[in-house]
Amino acid sequence: MTLHENRTGTATTPDQTNDPTQPFQPEVIFLGTGTSVGVPSLGCHCDVCTSDDPRNNRTRCAIVVRLPAGNLLIDTPPDLRSQLLREKISLVHAVLFTHEHVDHLYGLDDLRLFPFQLGHAIPLYCEPDVEDRIRRVYDYAFTNRTQTHPGSRPQLCFERITHDPFEVLGVEATPIPMRHGPHFDVLGFRIGNFAYCTDTNYIPPDSIERLRGVDTLVIDALRYKSHPTHFSVDEALEVIREVKPRSAFLTHICHDLDHGVVEQQLPDGVHLAYDGLRLPLSQ
Ligand SMILES: [Zn+2]
Ligand SMILES: [Zn+2]
Ligand SMILES: [Zn+2]
Repeated sequence: MTLHENRTGTATTPDQTNDPTQPFQPEVIFLGTGTSVGVPSLGCHCDVCTSDDPRNNRTRCAIVVRLPAGNLLIDTPPDLRSQLLREKISLVHAVLFTHEHVDHLYGLDDLRLFPFQLGHAIPLYCEPDVEDRIRRVYDYAFTNRTQTHPGSRPQLCFERITHDPFEVLGVEATPIPMRHGPHFDVLGFRIGNFAYCTDTNYIPPDSIERLRGVDTLVIDALRYKSHPTHFSVDEALEVIREVKPRSAFLTHICHDLDHGVVEQQLPDGVHLAYDGLRLPLSQ
């Protein structure tokens, strides 16, 4: 029996975007690709924040990996409800967390309706620090008090992860330990030939090894200017040159980068991600 057979066994149609006449195609959907304050940034009137190009409209970072056994969400940003509505994703089966920062966590309550469809609590795969933060921020989800009515608080359960590969929704996920500034560790994740590495400015050699052979690498690139906790575009390109994926997508982007302009300056095979972008997952 696999670790989560009981959960994957209950998975229903991953979402309402499925065309039942077509074979299911696993894919990644970018829910958000913006830095912590989003783009446009409140109060800013720069060319990017006032741009008509929808690709310059960046909500906070998350992706959904659509798998045969269900929808795997990576991070729960504050924009989560509107992101799931926009992409017509009507059910989330499990969540992986990269780290505990506000822009990756504070939309968790938006998952409150899904346990009704799943028939069980939503499994949250995370490290102990993230679990501690969730237990503090969402203390009402873990109280012993009797619920006033079903669904009045989120039904959440924790699946503790380490740096070892683990199984989720019928696939193996490999954590990619990375640094996010001098004092903070985060995880990227590799699923098959796809890897998602947001919120980092240093990927140690052992983790680079875990990325070897990926087809698609998604990597943090905040802006051109350097930053203490995020890769710049040039630093991200250096990692891309080392890992040599077939294609790479930059994410966690601030208002310094105009999509149309920067896209033309990037090397072959490297692109800026944007909200709503869908990439087929190779198997
Ligand atoms: Zn972030
Ligand atoms: Zn701006
Ligand atoms: Zn962060």
